[in-house]
Amino acid sequence: MRAFLWSIDAQENIRCKLCLKKCLITKKKPSGFCKVRKRRENILIVTNYMRIKYLEDEIENLHFLHFKPFNKVLVINSIGTNCNFCSMEITEDELKKIEIEKFIDEIKQKNYKILFFYQQEPIIFFETMYKIAKYAFRAGLINVFSTNAYFLPILSKLFKKYFSAVQVRVYNFLDEDFYKRIGLEDTKTLKKTILYLYRQKLHMEILNIINEEYKKEKLVEFSELIINDLSSSIPFHIHYPNNENIYELLELKDLAERTGLRFVYINDERNVLCYNCKSIIIDRENKTINLNSSYRCPNCLAKVELIL
Ligand code: SF4
Repeated sequence: MRAFLWSIDAQENIRCKLCLKKCLITKKKPSGFCKVRKRRENILIVTNYMRIKYLEDEIENLHFLHFKPFNKVLVINSIGTNCNFCSMEITEDELKKIEIEKFIDEIKQKNYKILFFYQQEPIIFFETMYKIAKYAFRAGLINVFSTNAYFLPILSKLFKKYFSAVQVRVYNFLDEDFYKRIGLEDTKTLKKTILYLYRQKLHMEILNIINEEYKKEKLVEFSELIINDLSSSIPFHIHYPNNENIYELLELKDLAERTGLRFVYINDERNVLCYNCKSIIIDRENKTINLNSSYRCPNCLAKVELIL
């Protein structure tokens, strides 16, 4: 399959422009960083086209709490990534080649309503993701994608048509030094892309994946950026894998809330609370949603933004 978004210069070097790595793909170095975009003669091709791994999950398990609660989703991913931190262990053997019409029929028969394009980085299998999303949308299904947003802001517009929601994955609160180390140097453009995605009016939640290198000042800085440029109501998830220190996590949550973020979640937290009076709005265990008819907290009437 011919790749989307590249150019070739007079020296016959190919420049892939799908993500901000902007790899130069030459005859001597015939594939990009993600290894799934390769040159064949003077054409850039994708080697993972329509080859995916898919499995069932619950939307809440994917750190997505304000959108279609209690739904099972079909998580779709593939091989290839553009960073050194977000690589998941998916092997070639796990991929299944699909035929689009049959695949959509299969999904519908199994009663899935939501497709969640997930890690590795879905932008790297953009051609496949977009085609599946297009057919799924036409069949009445809902598309969501998770991304590290490491692509040109202008591409955000393409998601408006077939996608309803996006999860932006951020590492160590978008600490520029950490990003340089994981090979995502252009944080300035990345921030712009997050803003552009938000402007497409997709439902957005932010997933911060952190490790022991995180810095509290970066949490404050990033929270302020969201509040000032996007919205204080954007759900803000802090996921610190394998950290059992609940006090540390609660301290981070408290810090984010004190900067002004309304909905902050840590690790496996699943209930949604009213930001104002702390009444339970979504009780995951009992599968109940407590809102009045105007989508407000029944206790204090604060507006709680949810897509049901
Ligand atoms: S990492 Fe892959 S998608 Fe990104 S620019 Fe390089 S070849 Fe293109």
